[in-house]
Amino acid sequence: MSRPNRFRDVIRIGPVRVGTRYDGRGRTKHTAACGAPGCGFSADYPDRSGAELAARTHRCNP
Ligand SMILES: [Zn+2]
Repeated sequence: MSRPNRFRDVIRIGPVRVGTRYDGRGRTKHTAACGAPGCGFSADYPDRSGAELAARTHRCNP
């Protein structure tokens, strides 16, 4: 799994971490990434609330 650097404002919601980063082209992205073994969920969102909502509603795959 990739591990983007320069995350900031990282919070943890259950097994999911939400962080804000720049995508290198002047835009800010908000990433939700699950740290549970075998899950691998990771997604980018254009806004912070979307990423946090995804983290709160995330359910790991069995
Ligand atoms: Zn998960």
